[in-house]
Amino acid sequence: MFALADIRLPTGRGDETRRAQLYVRGGRIVEVADGDARLRAGVEPLDGGGLLALPGAIDPHVHFDTPGFTHREDFEHGSAAAAAGGVTTVIDMPCTSLPPVTTRRALEHKRSVVGPQAHVDFALWGGAPGTLLADPRGREALTGLAQAGVVGFKAYLLSGMETFPALEPPQLGELLAHAAALGLPVGLHAEDPTLVRERTEAMLAAGRDDWDAVADVRAEPVESQGVAAALELLRRCGGALHVVHVGAATAAALVGKARRGGLDVTAETCPHFLAFTRDDFATLGPLLKTAPVVKTAADRDGLWRALADGTLDFVATDHAPCPLAEKQVSSAWQTYGGVTGVETLLPFLLSEGWKAGRLTLSRLVEVTSAAAARRYGLAARKGALAVGRDADVVLVDPDAEWTVRGEELHSLACWTPFEGRTFRGKVRRTFVRGRLVYDDGAGVVGEPGWGRFVPREGGTD
Ligand SMILES: [Zn+2]
Repeated sequence: MFALADIRLPTGRGDETRRAQLYVRGGRIVEVADGDARLRAGVEPLDGGGLLALPGAIDPHVHFDTPGFTHREDFEHGSAAAAAGGVTTVIDMPCTSLPPVTTRRALEHKRSVVGPQAHVDFALWGGAPGTLLADPRGREALTGLAQAGVVGFKAYLLSGMETFPALEPPQLGELLAHAAALGLPVGLHAEDPTLVRERTEAMLAAGRDDWDAVADVRAEPVESQGVAAALELLRRCGGALHVVHVGAATAAALVGKARRGGLDVTAETCPHFLAFTRDDFATLGPLLKTAPVVKTAADRDGLWRALADGTLDFVATDHAPCPLAEKQVSSAWQTYGGVTGVETLLPFLLSEGWKAGRLTLSRLVEVTSAAAARRYGLAARKGALAVGRDADVVLVDPDAEWTVRGEELHSLACWTPFEGRTFRGKVRRTFVRGRLVYDDGAGVVGEPGWGRFVPREGGTD
């Protein structure tokens, strides 16, 4: 047993904190004591240096590309970047590994490959591509994935991946109903495929190949139409829907309205949507290309408000880097879509969310950890610094300023759209189940393989 002493904990009331000590045994928190209490006899103290202790962040949407696309990212580098960014649990997507995680066998294979590489704990999404739903054994495969502990099923209304095709709308209805029977949410990439296709054809016919054209093709109402169609299916078929990577303020508003109307729907946004607008393509070009695409200043500001007021539930990075060579191609259409994100998630929200006055400290904890833990059935172990939970702790210095340098990031990709940005608030140490995995003096100090698979509660391990 040890005690993390001389730390400050958020109380859950606005920006308030209190001095505390956390007693940790066997990787779990066994007691949260007052900061002024005398240390229990025989307990080894670990000096927290007066730093702010937060529940380790959860990034519920990453693409660590293992096995299969490891020239872009791999689990070892991705999870080291997570550790350095104060992220103690990642939830990895099923669509950018090979084989895609659409069967229990594929999930077990993935676990066997990524487990020995993991610096932080990980949960997994199951995948529900259109081809699976069309297969008579598809339903059986979904049941197998649920039993294996996936947090939900990822599906696309519009997919750019040959190995993971989109669903037709009736298939989404079917998937929502199957998933509901298994007690799982469907995570949906909700962009209107027809609108994107028609606009792309028109741009290509006009000979356009520039960043304005890329931004125009995926501009609103692409997201709000996709979200509206999905909400209509949710209304008709029942189930639980989670809209991934919302980049449009109108789409967030539709989710909020549907939830108030009684539907089981949640949504996430991403740091890139909160930090950038389409005007930034002028300087960042391919480094900012994602799907959905970043939108207007009004969207960016609306997303911050939606995050603060609870319309949006949490933040995920959609971390999906690639080698610079896949960004530096001659055609904007051919440029790989995806950004590095997991390591800058918490620092960005600390700085531009909390320190900038857009989020309270308690809301910061909610959107970086607690809400995702609840949505994905991980809350018995993750998402809070409380007795019985895993000792996943990040110590931050809220006032330290630092400048983001891509070459200092731990991801396989050494670039970031946040290059040169100065953040206020720095991760000093990260603990996963009581073990130090990152120290900002020594770097990533954990061993790959320390990270464990965390099944959704109710699944089997
Ligand atoms: Zn994604």
